Amino acid sequence: MLPIPQDFPVQPLADNQAAKDRVTCGSCGRSWDDAIPTSLTPAPSARCPFEYFHTQFGVVDPVGEFVKYGDQLGEIVDVRYDSSVTYRCKVKHFNGTMWTIEPILSDLKWIQQDVTSNYRTTMDAFLEGYLECALWSSTDDDGNPLDDNYGIEDLSIPAYEQAKQECHDFQMANEELLEQYSRGLAYAGHDFWLTRNRHGSGFWDRGEGAVGDALTEASHMEGDRTLYAGDDGRLYFA
Ligand SMILES: [Zn+2]
Repeated sequence: MLPIPQDFPVQPLADNQAAKDRVTCGSCGRSWDDAIPTSLTPAPSARCPFEYFHTQFGVVDPVGEFVKYGDQLGEIVDVRYDSSVTYRCKVKHFNGTMWTIEPILSDLKWIQQDVTSNYRTTMDAFLEGYLECALWSSTDDDGNPLDDNYGIEDLSIPAYEQAKQECHDFQMANEELLEQYSRGLAYAGHDFWLTRNRHGSGFWDRGEGAVGDALTEASHMEGDRTLYAGDDGRLYFA
C-alpha cells in the first residue's frame, strides 16, 4: 500500500496503536483516530481522510504496477514522496530506460492486467520461449550471442509488438497441433524460432512424428526473421 506522507495531516494508526475514536476505512483498510481534530478529521460519515490515496493507486502497492505515459509503457520501480500531494515515481520503461515522472497521479495512466498492450502480463510462455531463443541464437556484429549483452527488455517496441503478433497468430493457427506437442508451450516457442529460421534443429527432430512435421511446415510458411541490435541499442527484427 502507498505510504501516507509523514507530514500528511492525518496519520494512519498502527494495528496495536491506542486511539480514542478509532475508525477504519472499508476501502483502504487504513485506520485513524477520529478524535484528533485536523483539517480532515473528524471525517464525515462514510468518508476516509486518506481518500486521496485511494485514487489510481487503489489499495495496492504501486511498485510493480504497469503504467502508460504517452505512448510508452513502463513499470513503476520506486515511489518517493515529495510533498503532501506529489509523488515522484521512478518508472522503468519496458525498453530499459528509466524516467522520473512528476506528478505521477495526473501523468500516468494505469494499465489494467487485462489490457493487451501490457508487456509482461501478455507475455505467455510461447512468446517468452520464442524471444529467449531469438536472443540466444542470434549474434551481434562481433559474433557474440545477443543474450550476452541483451535481454527481452532491450527489444524495441515495434520488435516486441511484431513478435507478440506473430507468436499469437501462429498459436491460433496451430492450436490443435500445439496441444499435442509434448514439450510444452515455452519449448514450442523456442522451436518456432529455430524452425522458421531453418536452424539445425526444431519441431521436426524432437521425436514428435506427424505433429512435429506439421508444425515444421507451418513454421516454414511464416518465413525467417533476423534479430539485430540497432544503433540506439534496441533490438529489431529484419
Ligand atoms: Zn480509505
